[in-house]
Amino acid sequence: MRTIGLLGGMSWESSAIYYKLINERVKEKLGKLHSAKSIMYSVDFQLIKDLQFEGKWSKATVELIKAAKCVEKGGGDFLIICTNTMHKMAEEIQGAISIPVLHIADTTGEEIEKSGIRKIGLLATKFTMEQEFYKGRLQSKYGIDVIIPNEEERIMIHDIIYNELCLGDIRTESRQIYKEIIDRLIERGAEGIILGCTEITMLIKEQDINIPVFDTTKIHAIKAADYAMNK
Ligand code: GLU
Repeated sequence: MRTIGLLGGMSWESSAIYYKLINERVKEKLGKLHSAKSIMYSVDFQLIKDLQFEGKWSKATVELIKAAKCVEKGGGDFLIICTNTMHKMAEEIQGAISIPVLHIADTTGEEIEKSGIRKIGLLATKFTMEQEFYKGRLQSKYGIDVIIPNEEERIMIHDIIYNELCLGDIRTESRQIYKEIIDRLIERGAEGIILGCTEITMLIKEQDINIPVFDTTKIHAIKAADYAMNK
């Protein structure tokens, strides 16, 4: 079995979910007392969040490269970056280490491609929704047309992520806001919805929405576990 390297702590709430999902998958597939071989470097998210909000992306990249190198040295056979947003620097991280990075947009893109869906709504941080590193990859590698909420809605989604979900604060009224935004994306032609932030899985479940939901945390964790076992 390969050892899974996790770059976590962004936030630790979602990293804890990754850890659980990965081990549940290994248990489901291998049975008995089998569990995933893994090593996680968990950052202090306040520091990273400050760098994000100040636009100091190159400093954040340096921090994540340091962490990724620790994971590699610690025996990780491949790396998963447990946040969609910080895939903004996935190429730089990949360039600094010799183990492969299992990219969250690829694991998600493969699942969307399999479903036959061509037009999808994306809920994520403002960084992920507004910049090209994520949408662009889905479009260019998988031919998926990604639509995003309007500006006011993007701010609401983003604020709920950082002010509530990353703190483990799950509110019914925020779930309602997300559902209404999803309904408007459906009206605009979305055939599926990407939960493109690794904390949204705590707020929205597949059964809450009546079109296909692509939960990036779940997809990424399961694909990592499967890749670790496929040897
Ligand atoms: N976990 C989140 C994501 O998937 C947001 C936190 C972060 O900025 O990394 O994008």
